Amino acid sequence: MRTVVEGGYVVAVDAAGSEHDGGHVVLEEERIVAVGPGPAPAEWREDAEIVDARGALVTPGLVNTHHHLYQWLTRGHAQDAILFDWLTALYPLWSRIDADLTGVAAAGAMAVLARSGCTTVGDHHYVFPRGSGDIVGAIVDAASRIGVRLHATRGSMDLGSSQGGLPPDSAVETTDAALAATQAAVERYHDASPASMVRVAVAPCSPFSVTSDLLRESAAQARALGVRMHTHASETVEEHDFCLERFGRTPTQYLEDLGWLGDDVWMAHAVHLDPDEIVRYAATGTGVAHCPSSNARLAAGIAPVHDLLRAGVPVGLGVDGSASNESGQLGIEIREAVLVNRLRTGSDSFSVRDGLRIATMGGARVLGRASEIGSLEPGKLADVAVWRVDGVEHAGILDPVAALGLGALPPLQRLFVQGRAVVADGVLTTAEEPVLAEQVAAASRELASRL
Ligand SMILES: [Zn+2]
Repeated sequence: MRTVVEGGYVVAVDAAGSEHDGGHVVLEEERIVAVGPGPAPAEWREDAEIVDARGALVTPGLVNTHHHLYQWLTRGHAQDAILFDWLTALYPLWSRIDADLTGVAAAGAMAVLARSGCTTVGDHHYVFPRGSGDIVGAIVDAASRIGVRLHATRGSMDLGSSQGGLPPDSAVETTDAALAATQAAVERYHDASPASMVRVAVAPCSPFSVTSDLLRESAAQARALGVRMHTHASETVEEHDFCLERFGRTPTQYLEDLGWLGDDVWMAHAVHLDPDEIVRYAATGTGVAHCPSSNARLAAGIAPVHDLLRAGVPVGLGVDGSASNESGQLGIEIREAVLVNRLRTGSDSFSVRDGLRIATMGGARVLGRASEIGSLEPGKLADVAVWRVDGVEHAGILDPVAALGLGALPPLQRLFVQGRAVVADGVLTTAEEPVLAEQVAAASRELASRL
């Protein structure tokens, strides 16, 4: 099985920043075997499917580094709230979720991600009500049906409101139960192989919903299992104040004390970091999932991405959960990142190519997969987006990368995941979108009826 994509504007996002106007990319089985200028060499064309990409922008598939897929069932709530009020409004609904509903939500959210150019889906699930079934398994199954690469993280909460935490006691697990279930999820679903479609990381939720014990023991557990670690950090002023009051430490100092900085860790948000904290992230190789739309919706602030990148911190892009970003489209987060970072640090501080880079190679670094995904280079996995930029939205634009980074989200001619066309001519090939929509609507009603 070989596919030749040729004639498009190819942006490799490799170390050299290679771009080929009218170039080619060749996919064979699950890997990229050739990338370069002009048409593909004759030896690759034999028996190949030829995709005519003239008028298209060809990029690596986008990598999502932070999401809560289950929130696809709870969009549109608490529209004008800041994080803590928004969470408090939604916890009662979320604490009635189960594996079946999560599977429906995940399929809907992943369909929308794929339709916006995303080939690798990072998820963070941290609500596990008693008797809710195999939620991680439901997410793994949904990813397999939609055909995307999954980085599931097994989250947890064990600091209920009776102990000074934010979530109600009904939404949290015990420390031991959370650790045991996390161990089981990694052992059952994590695939460490280079072409892996499913990896699992350890992900206690946040400093205000998790005990110090669970954070410390989760770090030891992840390192014993050889998997990555993920949590929310420095998202809001309120979280910063919570850590100062409760622990006498900033979120970064507190997390570092508990073993939570390192090149096997990535944090969602990292909005409120002072220069010393950025130095600690850089010195330890700790990664960041930048979630501009969610941070704007909750008025959390603008992450210092320009400074993080200049310091050498790995930065990826994330949509965050769909209850704080109802779009759930990763492609448009490139534009959001460009716009908000310019508001923070100036018009020349963050280019459309910077946006594309964090959405691809940056995300690959954050997920520990820089040698496998994130760029168009021979030997990498065949995750490729072919965006039409010759329609009425973009025709005539000076720079095809600006079409993606400043213009409307372009339609996808193809989205390849592991060499398989998951999107073709703007439509998902792996599921019927109207059926998914009906299932999501019914599941949202079912969850609401449980309140
Ligand atoms: Zn989040």
